[in-house]
Amino acid sequence: MSDKMVRPLLITIDGPAGAGKSTVAKIAAEKLGLPYLDTGAIYRAVTWLLKEEDIAPSETTNIEAALEGISVSFSEDRIAVNGRDVTDEIRTSDVDVAVSSYSALKPVRDALIGLQREQALKGLVADGRDMGTVVFPDADIKIFLTADAAERAKRRYKERLARGEKAEYEEILKYVNDRDLYDMNRKIAPLRPALGCVILDSTNMSIEQVTDVIVSLAEELRGTRVN
Ligand code: C5P
Repeated sequence: MSDKMVRPLLITIDGPAGAGKSTVAKIAAEKLGLPYLDTGAIYRAVTWLLKEEDIAPSETTNIEAALEGISVSFSEDRIAVNGRDVTDEIRTSDVDVAVSSYSALKPVRDALIGLQREQALKGLVADGRDMGTVVFPDADIKIFLTADAAERAKRRYKERLARGEKAEYEEILKYVNDRDLYDMNRKIAPLRPALGCVILDSTNMSIEQVTDVIVSLAEELRGTRVN
């Protein structure tokens, strides 16, 4: 029996901003009884930390020093960096605007890769940009979840309004497009479909439909495994 047959399921979901990755990943994880990891939140937490310490993306040595021995912890829906809860802070527009610049840096990605892999010991549904390409290239199921930029911006716009925040559709569309371009064109771990992934275009799909596809793939695979 190979290792792969007894290992708990590892599912990766990558894709551009606003494709619904986190929502879908969270529901799929719950249905499958697997832990869920939002790696965007980790990059956001590090961005928050570096900004808090006034370290610019160009200050490589300072970034390396700041991230040496960094601890990121999760409990329920909360995230803490070096013991400080930053769940709310990482969703501010300051972090939104800066996260892609810090995420493109080698010392940042190097500091976070081990930490992400440690989370997969009991199986995992992980969403991000490089889950299937770099962090978990041997994942059992790799999904690339996308949708038209206009649809993704519309979803973000509605989310903001629902949270009672101010929102400008055109501004959100520009921000979504800029962030995707930056993430797709960076040198390290660019956003792209992983080898062997299933590409899902959710433009005309509900959250439920997307989740069902992923859960069905997982259940099918589980059915072929020996306990
Ligand atoms: O998923 P979310 O939109 O919160 O991610 C914020 C940013 O973090 C992305 O735009 C990307 O720059 C970075 N990120 C990354 N690699 C990941 C997850 C997120 O570079 N695995």
